[in-house]
This record gives sequence, C-alpha cells and structure tokens, in this order.
Amino acid sequence: MNVAEDPRIAPLRDLDTLALDNRYARLGEAYFSRVEPAPLTNPRLLHANTEVAALLDLDPAQLLTQRFIEIFAGNRPLPGAEPIATIYAGHQFGGWVPQLGDGRAILLGQVRNRRGESWDLQLKGAGKTPYSRFGDGRAVIRSSLREYLAGEALHHLGIPSTRALSLIVADDPVQRETVERAAVICRVAPSHVRFGHFELFYSRGQHERLAPLADHVIDEHFPELSGRPDRHARWLEAVTVRTAELIARWQAAGFCHGVMNTDNMSVLGLTLDYGPYGFIDGFDAGHVCNHSDPGGRYAYDRQPAIGHWNCSRLIQSCVPLLADDPEQAAEIGQTLLDRYPDAYAQAMTRLWRAKFGLRDEQDDDPALINRFLTLLHRGRADFTLSLRALASVRVADDDPATELRARILDLEALDAWLPDYRARLRAEQSDDAERAARMNACNPKYILRNHLAQRAIAEAERGGSSETERLLRVLRHPFDEQPEHAAYAEEPPPGERHIAVSCSS
Ligand code: AMP
Ligand code: MG
Repeated sequence: MNVAEDPRIAPLRDLDTLALDNRYARLGEAYFSRVEPAPLTNPRLLHANTEVAALLDLDPAQLLTQRFIEIFAGNRPLPGAEPIATIYAGHQFGGWVPQLGDGRAILLGQVRNRRGESWDLQLKGAGKTPYSRFGDGRAVIRSSLREYLAGEALHHLGIPSTRALSLIVADDPVQRETVERAAVICRVAPSHVRFGHFELFYSRGQHERLAPLADHVIDEHFPELSGRPDRHARWLEAVTVRTAELIARWQAAGFCHGVMNTDNMSVLGLTLDYGPYGFIDGFDAGHVCNHSDPGGRYAYDRQPAIGHWNCSRLIQSCVPLLADDPEQAAEIGQTLLDRYPDAYAQAMTRLWRAKFGLRDEQDDDPALINRFLTLLHRGRADFTLSLRALASVRVADDDPATELRARILDLEALDAWLPDYRARLRAEQSDDAERAARMNACNPKYILRNHLAQRAIAEAERGGSSETERLLRVLRHPFDEQPEHAAYAEEPPPGERHIAVSCSS
C-alpha cells in the first residue's frame, strides 16, 4: 500500500483540510435555518482538548494558533463549514413547548476521521438564531466550563456523552442574575439530534418529514439498519435500549442530569446539554440537583421513570413510521416502549453487581444491594467514597472494615449487613485482591463534584486555567488512586456544600 493511502499513517489535518461536510443540511430547509456566528470581543483560549482534536485527526499544533481561536470563537469561518441552527420542539418539565430549536447552538458540519467516524462540530454560545426566542444566543464562562468539564468526566467514567474541542472566553458582557462574560464551546458528538426534533414534525402534522430525518440518523449512525423495511422500528428499539442503559449508568455513578426535557434527550443515547447537573455527594435518593426544579421532577430516583416517559414521547412521534394502519402502528409502538423496563433492569443489575464485586447472579442480590444503599441514604454517607470503600472489605469475619466504617453512621445496621455481604462473597469463592481490583475499576474515586467545578470557574473568571487543567487531568483517570491528587476525592468542605446550580446559563 502506498504510504499516502494508508489511513493509519495518513497525515494529521489542519484547519484547511478538516474536510467539513454538513449532511444535516442536505435534509432541506424545513429542518433548519442558515445562520452566521456572531463575533466575540477579544476572544482567548481557556482550554483546548487534545483528546477531542485526536478524534478529528486534527494536528494538536493547530490548537495553539490565533486562527484556531478566531474560528472557534465564531469570528471567522471554518473552511467547508455550512453553519445552521436546527429546529425542534420538546416537553420541558412535562409541559409541551411547540417550538424550540438551537437558540444559541450553531452546527458547523461533520468531520469524518480516518477510522470512518463522523463527528458534529457545534458552536454553543455563538449568537442569536431564529430560535433564540427571548434569549441572547450567548453562554457564560460558568456554564460553558461546567459543560466542558462534564463531557470529559462522564466520558472517562465510561458514560456516553457529548464532549468539547475548545472553550473560548471573551470580554462581551452577558446579563444573567448578574453581568457575566461570554464564552463559547465547540461541542463535538456523533450527532446532536434530539427526541424533540421528531416531536416537532409529528405535532405539526408534517408526518412526511419524519422518515427523512429518521433515515438520516439511521444512515449516519445505524448503518446496519439502512434500507431494511423494519429499520424505523429497530432504530426506535435501539434508542429505547440505549436510553435505558444510559440512565442506568447515571444512577450507578450518582449522576443527576437536572433537565431531562425531551429536547435534551439524544437519539444516540448520549448525555446531552449539561446545565444544572450534579454528582451526588452525601447520598439522598431523592436528591434534586437543579434549584429551578422545586417539584423535583428530575430528582435522582425519578430519572429512570422520566427516561421511560421521554421514550414514550419519541415513539409516539414516530408512530406514523411504524405501519399504515394506525392501530397496528400504535401496537408496535407499545412493544418498542416495553423494551425500556427490561433493558433498564438488566443494565442496572449488571452495573450494581459489578460495583459490589459480585460475579455470579443470585436472586437476592438486589435486596442486598438496596440494604446497603438504604444505609448510605439514612446517614447521607458520601455515595462515591462509600462505594469505593466497599472494595477494602475482606471476606474474613475478623476484618474490621475500617475504611467503610468510617463512612457509615448507623454502625449497628452496617454490622448486620456485613455478614450477609461476606457470606454472599464466600458463596462465589471471591478472592479479596482480585475482587478489589475489579471493584476499583468500576467504583470511581474521582468525580466532578460541584465545588471542584466551582474552583475552576472562579479561576477561569479571573482569566486563569491551571485549575481547569489540573481537574481535567484528575478526571481523566477517575478509577486510579492518584495519591498526589487525593484532595480531589474528598467531600466538599462545609463552606462549599450545596452550591446552588440553576437553569441560568
Ligand atoms: P436548555 O434549557 O439550555 O436546554 O435550553 C432550552 C431552549 O432554550 C433551547 O432551545 C435553547 O437553545 C434555548 N436557550 C437557552 N438559553 C438561551 C440563550 N441564552 N439564548 C438563546 N436561546 C437559549
Ligand atoms: Mg437544551
């Protein structure tokens, strides 16, 4: 093979040879509006993501150029880009909103890398679009950095997520509760298509627009289904299963999304649109991370049911694709939706067994696991550190389980639980060291706690990025011990608990 043709050693690309295409724009003007990013004043790079650049085959040297900053601030065009804002609708906090759309996000196009993967590049905070409604089209440093950090944190925990290539800050004032400053991220994901895209066309009675959109998603991301007569049903089934699995992963990591509106749900099962999200510190099963959600619609323990309901909205919107006969189509839709509870339960059981170091499956495992979670909930023990400490428990009855005891308030209940856990481990001849290694590979030590994000934000607002850099380095190895960064594993100190995060962004 000619060296120039070998995809493994094809040269890295620069900003002129990224070869952007925008296949979403081929769908036609009913699906989007053409827009131009609005320039920012004095844009500066706060952070660029070399891991994401690698996904795009982009030469990391490009990240250090002034041109990179200007392009990803929206101040000059990216060669080959075809900037659009897409139209969608959605259920927000359960209420129907007939029209939303990318109010501050601009899709530049897709890059196909040498492995054949396609990646959307989307500027978030790059100015107004026809869907901005009353918004200013901007994003502030605080929310942009939170999104940037979360994408990396979840990705490295093994939770599917959008990520970002760059975070650029500028001088432009942005009015929120106070005056803040503008920032823009370049979000990168295989696709940003949401449940709400389908809800829009269904609700408008434009059912003929559903199939081209579904086929676009299928051709791009489910090529094994392309052209099959049952492709729409199989795709909806895949979305349902992926959504169930995604939410099972959130639960297992103690992650709360905060705004599970149907316009924030990805048709690829990715975590999408980070706002007032949060990882749980002291465990409260009813934890609500979003101060703009007083009713607790999106509380931690409601996320699985909300995911199910959201899937019902997507499937309902796609019923016209399922059969000509409406009754038959509705029946197929119900069958697809019924995949959710099983897929969720299966993923949940698999993830939690692994977190507890259990290899075999036994019927009373869920009860054993729930008893432990109840212990955490009652004493508001730190979710992450308690589960991490579980790996240090030994099967021998005389093991003092010191690390775990330090986390749990109700020691009497713990002492009632531990013998059952040990008996369960002995029943599968569990080896302490081997089990601990397995458990430490799925119970993280380091998560993106709000107070850690807040420290990086405080520095970023003064123009610095060393804390962002350090935090990212820690979060990229969440399962490693990293003794030099042990302070990043700790619970927030008393003065930094309960940081209020809201929909303001
Ligand atoms: P979110 O709650 O961030 O998912 O946003 C819900 C809707 O409001 C989406 O259509 C966003 O594009 C839009 N939106 C949020 N903030 C702004 C803003 N500052 N300017 C314009 N549109 C916005
Ligand atoms: Mg959104």
